[in-house]
Amino acid sequence: MYQEAIRNYLKTTRQEKICLKAVLFDMDGVLFDSMPYHAEAWATVMNRHGLRFSRQEAFLHEGRTGASTINIAYNRQYGHDAPPELIEQIYAEKSEAFSTYPEPVSMPGAPALLQKVTGVGLTPVLVTGSGQRSLLDRLNHHYPGIFTPEHMVTAFDVKHGKPNPEPYLMGLQKADVQAHEAIVVENAPIGVQAGHAAGIFTIAVNTGPLDGQVLLDAGADLLFPSMQALCDAWEEIFPLLHKG
Ligand code: CA
Repeated sequence: MYQEAIRNYLKTTRQEKICLKAVLFDMDGVLFDSMPYHAEAWATVMNRHGLRFSRQEAFLHEGRTGASTINIAYNRQYGHDAPPELIEQIYAEKSEAFSTYPEPVSMPGAPALLQKVTGVGLTPVLVTGSGQRSLLDRLNHHYPGIFTPEHMVTAFDVKHGKPNPEPYLMGLQKADVQAHEAIVVENAPIGVQAGHAAGIFTIAVNTGPLDGQVLLDAGADLLFPSMQALCDAWEEIFPLLHKG
């Protein structure tokens, strides 16, 4: 099954082989079990401002920048983008609401997978649409010494957030590797779209409430039900991705 997925990827991207050097990790819903809190915060604050937005939608649109998420709800009701001041205010309130929830724990299986990834000499790169300083600080607490600042792409680095490929292209650039020398690990449809559009072999981990088919439809090359499942399969997958 893994080999077939890789063959399909190589055929579509016209690459000869994957020579894995870097693993590009999304953050929320991949490294941290933080998505339920984000979904709750989004729904609460949008509704407070009279904007219709459900928790389920937060998962569907997960990975977009704050402004893009707000404009999805705003456009639907008013037919145009929200004023910049309102975007700023809603995003600030959303961040504030998020910070009142318990501290998100690391996703089961993620720390062990990171150990395996760094253990074989691969470069881990963080590629997140998040611009929350607090969560970025927590990275160092839960994954000490794993992600260096020069190997991080956050909301502050890009002009176009996911599903645009820019964040993942920038991740490649920061790791100084080509698309066929990396893989993406993502949990959200929009993040999968971004990884796929960047021409990178994209592994989806379905850690949320969505149907896994949504992730395959978004362009995932492989789908796992959890980070633990991906971690367990790593020894089998890694040799297939490492044809130097
Ligand atoms: Ca995510």
